[in-house]
Amino acid sequence: MISKGMFEVKNTYDVVVVGGGLAGICAAVSSAREGAKTALIERYGILGGMLTSGNVYPILGMVSEGTIYDEVAELLGADSAEKIVSGNGREIPVDVEKAKSVLLKFARDNQVDIWLQTPVVEAQMEDGRLTGVLVGTQEGLKCLEAKVFIDASGDGQLAAIAGAPYEIGRAGDGKCQPVSMIFTVGGVDPEIGQVVNGRSDKMRLPDGTLYADVCEAANQRGELPPNVTIVRLHRSCYPDERNVNASQANGYNTLTADGVTAAELDLKGQIDQIVTFLRKYVPGYEKCYVKSSGSTLGVRETRRITGECTVTDEDVEQGRKHPDVVVHNAWFKIDIHNPAGGGQAEKYAQPCIPYDIRYGSLVPLKVDGLLTAGRCISGTHRAHASYRVMGICMGIGQAAGIAAALCAEKNCVPRVLDVREVQKKLTQKGVDLGL
Ligand SMILES: Cc1cc2nc3c(=O)[nH]c(=O)nc-3n(C[C@H](O)[C@H](O)[C@H](O)COP(=O)(O)OP(=O)(O)OC[C@H]3O[C@@H](n4cnc5c(N)ncnc54)[C@H](O)[C@@H]3O)c2cc1C
Repeated sequence: MISKGMFEVKNTYDVVVVGGGLAGICAAVSSAREGAKTALIERYGILGGMLTSGNVYPILGMVSEGTIYDEVAELLGADSAEKIVSGNGREIPVDVEKAKSVLLKFARDNQVDIWLQTPVVEAQMEDGRLTGVLVGTQEGLKCLEAKVFIDASGDGQLAAIAGAPYEIGRAGDGKCQPVSMIFTVGGVDPEIGQVVNGRSDKMRLPDGTLYADVCEAANQRGELPPNVTIVRLHRSCYPDERNVNASQANGYNTLTADGVTAAELDLKGQIDQIVTFLRKYVPGYEKCYVKSSGSTLGVRETRRITGECTVTDEDVEQGRKHPDVVVHNAWFKIDIHNPAGGGQAEKYAQPCIPYDIRYGSLVPLKVDGLLTAGRCISGTHRAHASYRVMGICMGIGQAAGIAAALCAEKNCVPRVLDVREVQKKLTQKGVDLGL
């Protein structure tokens, strides 16, 4: 942590959002639309987070009508595409190359001050309140101050360095979901090349064998990497492409540079083997080739910042509704990729009933002047396995952005903000909160 005055203050804002993934973009745009002078700080050279730098799609997960999710989905071309609904609910395939410019323009058109290639490395604290972030720039280390911050870094890095408590992984052994390198293959025969969402899909090859069994058998023969027991093949925007969610590596600590580098090496090395498997065993994929892959590995789970309240197992399993709701009817299966082996931790992704996310799960304990958004909010390991998908993260981002702008306007910290003010703003925008 740093103290005030240690570094030059480069700029001062009402709201600073750290992390330009979909949660951060939605937070920054929502804050700026409330009239707050807002900055969005991103360590890489593009916005979009896992969607763009991780090559991760389709956008999964649903929330109630009227949120910023609807707007972003339309911007990314969902309305012109065939409406796809599978066992995963609504799926939005995305042209990642287009998304890179569309999302940047979306933030800029909404008067967000964008800082690309600007990693946040430290927190400036004053009496338990976060008042600035230290960023690495070409001119050296500089400080950006703000009335309110939103940690949308995925890893909850800002909250952690500011001293907020957090949990990692599942209860008992603390193991996290595995990391993956997502890649897209072209050259697929659109008529024959099937789509497979997971082990629960009962896709059969022409000779009647269950595809999932073919994957398992190839894994046992060593024709697929050690923990790759299912090769998921998602639709892309283009008929001859599939997005391949298959590579998997367990046990790396991606909160360290060593862990990230080792995981990248492991995962990049798995791509060839998976493509060879597809060409050899899966009809329609005989001529497939790698068209693109993530420019960074995909991290499903790290810190969950402990908040004033928590999204619980019961919330997602029983579809609980709450009076302090800020995201209503969040829905996605409890999708736990196995932290200790291949496939799913619970054999299949488990059902979930549309549930509410409460304001307090965005408000970290111990640190004032800070909200969280996206996959790092407060929740249990199982609940996180549902709300971590991009559709829900956008709804969380919108709520956080509006709350932060309100705090800046009222000169109060998020912990004391009356949630009814956030709900009023959301409802005025047409968001159904079920109230
Ligand atoms: C392999 C994999 C497959 C997935 N498949 C799907 C899927 O098919 N559909 C779906 O909807 N979801 C999927 N998910 C989940 C989803 O992609 C993520 O959980 C979601 O993108 C999280 O959004 P976010 O905005 O919270 O974080 P992210 O998208 O991770 O964005 C965080 C941003 O913060 C930036 N950042 C981090 N630290 C700093 C810092 N110190 N300074 C500045 N910037 C920083 C990062 O560079 C990044 O741009 C998948 C995830 C993985 C890993």
